[in-house]
Amino acid sequence: MSRFWSDLATRLTPYVPGEQPRGTRLIKLNTNENPYGPAPGVLAALANISADQLRRYPDPESSELGAAWAAREGLQADQVFLGNGSDEVLAHAFAALLKHEQPLLFPDISYSFYPVWCELYQVPFQAVPLRDDFSVQVDDYNTPCGGIIIPNPNAPTGRIMPLDDVSRLLTAHRDCVVVIDEAYIDFGGHSATALVADHNNLLVIQTASKSRSMAGMRVGAAFGQRELIQGLVRVKDSFNSYPLDVVAQQAMLASLADEEWIDSCCKRVVATRERTASALQQMGFDVLPSAANFLFARHKNQHAADLFAALRERGVIVRYFNKPRIEQFLRISIGTDEDMDALLAALQDIL
Ligand code: PMP
Repeated sequence: MSRFWSDLATRLTPYVPGEQPRGTRLIKLNTNENPYGPAPGVLAALANISADQLRRYPDPESSELGAAWAAREGLQADQVFLGNGSDEVLAHAFAALLKHEQPLLFPDISYSFYPVWCELYQVPFQAVPLRDDFSVQVDDYNTPCGGIIIPNPNAPTGRIMPLDDVSRLLTAHRDCVVVIDEAYIDFGGHSATALVADHNNLLVIQTASKSRSMAGMRVGAAFGQRELIQGLVRVKDSFNSYPLDVVAQQAMLASLADEEWIDSCCKRVVATRERTASALQQMGFDVLPSAANFLFARHKNQHAADLFAALRERGVIVRYFNKPRIEQFLRISIGTDEDMDALLAALQDIL
């Protein structure tokens, strides 16, 4: 008799994260980490965690943090949902809010975790092709659907959809949930949290991993009207009732208390991004306009797989996706100016 679990390991297609080699001599530009580190107050808050705080279970609602993060977005405490990284928040959304008989729509080139969750939670989906210029156009999302999820800026392209278009999308699909995944919003966009008050079908996802430089600590959030947030709370309570540990709650509160640090780090990343984009263009790359902390670029006559391997030999790790339509591209995270100089020098050497 066959066992129902015997093919589980082969049946599910897993998400393949970017490699995380541990070595200080490598220049790591492959997983969109922020080179500047969290606000100094975050480290101070971590040093001040008391034995008593660790001894006790954390606040299961993370109420203080929820209220502070919601306030930063101009929202109320009952319009936010917290999770261990935005991946966990997204997984909860796929488990319940996005499950429907009609297909979930998302761009055919977007965060590669989406089809993995669709498979896991048995959510039917349809990938909507990007335009020739790799942009996401609202008019391409006119088909009947059970929900829509769009990273904005998109990953791995870096292209951003204007807020007016997000608004049009929400109005055109009043009966289904529209998720805007804003992992990279602080590097050049305006958050759709400004639209939450007017749209009960909107869920905006954010993370502390990128602009706040805290990827090593899992902190993410969803913002939306109360009904959607309550839906996520119900799913969470069915898994694990402690969304964030006490350490992550204190660290994130400290990060929210120093927005100046975040702004100045994001500005540095953006300046370095633009300088790197021009240098790459001069070396024969087509570079997509980016509103994120990475660039998506293809060389006019060198194959991306070869460039990826040659860079790795020189100690620089970028991301290469062996997928149709983007197999000619490299995704390059923005590091410090020195990191990018090392990347450019390695490329000079190769080309
Ligand atoms: N959404 C997008 C578009 C991403 O690129 C990432 C990072 N890989 C995430 C969500 C998840 O980020 P985290 O779990 O670190 O919050």
